Amino acid sequence: MVEMFQKMGGTSSRIALTEYLVALLKQTPPEIIDKVTYLIQGKLYPDYEGIEIGVAEKMIVRAIASSSGKDGAEIERIYQKTGDLGDACAEAMKSKNQSTLFSEPMTVERVYNTFDRVARTTGPGSQEIKLRFISSLLNDATPEQSRYIVKFVMGQLRLGIADYTVLDSLALAFTGDKGNRKVLESAYNVSSDLGTIAKLMATKGLRAVRSLKVKLFRPIRPMLAERVTTAEEALDRMEGKAGVEYKLDGERVQVHKGKNGVELFSRRLEKITGHYPDVVKAMGSIRSEVIMEGEVVAINPETEEYLPFQELMHRRRKHGVEEAMENYPVVMNFFDVLYLDGKSKMQLQYSDRRKLLKKIVDSVKKNDIVRLINQAAVKEPQEIDRFMASAIENGCEGVMIKQLTSTYRAGAREYAWVKLKREYRSELADTLDLVIVGALHGRGRRAGKYGALLLAAYSPKDDMFQSATKVGTGFTDAHLEKFYEDLRRHIIAQRHARVETGMAMDVWFEPRLVIEVIASEITVSPSHAAAKNAIKLGFGLALRFPKFTGKIRDDKKPEDATTVEELISMYRGQLKTAGVKTADEG
Ligand code: ATP
Repeated sequence: MVEMFQKMGGTSSRIALTEYLVALLKQTPPEIIDKVTYLIQGKLYPDYEGIEIGVAEKMIVRAIASSSGKDGAEIERIYQKTGDLGDACAEAMKSKNQSTLFSEPMTVERVYNTFDRVARTTGPGSQEIKLRFISSLLNDATPEQSRYIVKFVMGQLRLGIADYTVLDSLALAFTGDKGNRKVLESAYNVSSDLGTIAKLMATKGLRAVRSLKVKLFRPIRPMLAERVTTAEEALDRMEGKAGVEYKLDGERVQVHKGKNGVELFSRRLEKITGHYPDVVKAMGSIRSEVIMEGEVVAINPETEEYLPFQELMHRRRKHGVEEAMENYPVVMNFFDVLYLDGKSKMQLQYSDRRKLLKKIVDSVKKNDIVRLINQAAVKEPQEIDRFMASAIENGCEGVMIKQLTSTYRAGAREYAWVKLKREYRSELADTLDLVIVGALHGRGRRAGKYGALLLAAYSPKDDMFQSATKVGTGFTDAHLEKFYEDLRRHIIAQRHARVETGMAMDVWFEPRLVIEVIASEITVSPSHAAAKNAIKLGFGLALRFPKFTGKIRDDKKPEDATTVEELISMYRGQLKTAGVKTADEG
């Protein structure tokens, strides 16, 4: 694994990254392939488990000091020089005098199990115990092994191996055919657990993967919506009739209610049960086992007005949630049901799921929290417009329009669901969520911070991040400070293997952070790579006059960013509004 880490860290080719991974998976014994799959992504478990390794940096410095026989100040000095604690560790260990007698062999299992213990040690005095576990590994490690042990524990492996890269590699390694990724992806969409899929694939084969079932407390990847700009277009997409719902500006939550408890998962499928104890309590009275989806929104209890998404920030904390619950009440607006008493309901039509959902919500003991989202059946564009006006009046950001006959397609963004948002005057009809992949150093007032950030859209077809704009406006001083701090952990020496751009940057980042921007229009661009050649040969698409809206989308993974296909359709929509015909319309 260490050899692979070295190779993967040194490449800026996405294809090479996949090849290394295929080679690694082929060599891995099936019994530990789940563990290897988690480790290469810098994890110990699937994200939804929400368990973190949780070691303080100063503890790692102490562990390195004791294993290398140097003092803490010396390690800090090397760390200052290398800028990465893993690299500092490797350097310190190189000059270590002697290796330990009777050392245990450094197997993947041993490393994984030790990390696992570190992660599971909590409570008072846990840092000292964690320190001992880490030292036990470093004592027996070669300098190269120690480099990656420390990087892992620090959460700084920075290989940027996406879920899709793992799925491609599994298909290639075990079937020799990348086309089988589809089967693996469907299993992933309903289980969100690559380790389990890897193990099933390696031990029982593709058929077992195909029959993986929805299970309580294993989150399902959310179904997503395409965007439209008019009610007419929405109805065209729905063959003339549809359900229209409020689109609330809150946080999407997937609620899993079992016999013995409730868990809540975010849009990116992380466990957020602790943020909303009031929702958990309100769900307690449901008799059945269910998986439901809804939007949790902050509310002004006096006026019953919905409040903007930012108000939910107060709930994202480890301590004092009880108090935040009092001061920032929320309501949970359910819009879908995916599972009921042992059976998946995803194959039911939307109209039937809605009926079932109503029944379940009606069965909840009366409380102020759980509600059914406002919905109406529509046939005419005017009906949508009227519904939209009432949604906006009630503090929504627009409406969702859903095809009555559509099944729940986990992980898919399709026209079965479309979103129609309030119009923004003289700007693009929607905001975009883009990934930060590079930066330029600031000058003048911004000296010592970043002056501009390079942003990229996601291209699912080739699993790449393609640059679409450079943004420098919309940032407050606090933002500049925060970005400088937050991005520090993601700095890499060269352009990332999954980033494509014609722009030269001062600093490159592993694609991790997603931010929301608004722009005046989309134009063709010779230097940006987004949707390259799709509109004009040799040109990509870029945003003009982009501005940061102030929203950091930490509920989105980089692969959930606006896609290049969306950029293309927004570009075409813009031409349509201006009355210009696109090539494929003649
Ligand atoms: P956006 O950036 O517009 O919020 P998104 O990229 O997060 O969208 P989309 O699938 O494009 O996700 O838009 C749907 C989102 O809108 C959902 O993820 C959910 O959080 C929110 N939402 C609000 N009301 C509804 C509703 N009635 N049905 C489905 N989703 C809803």
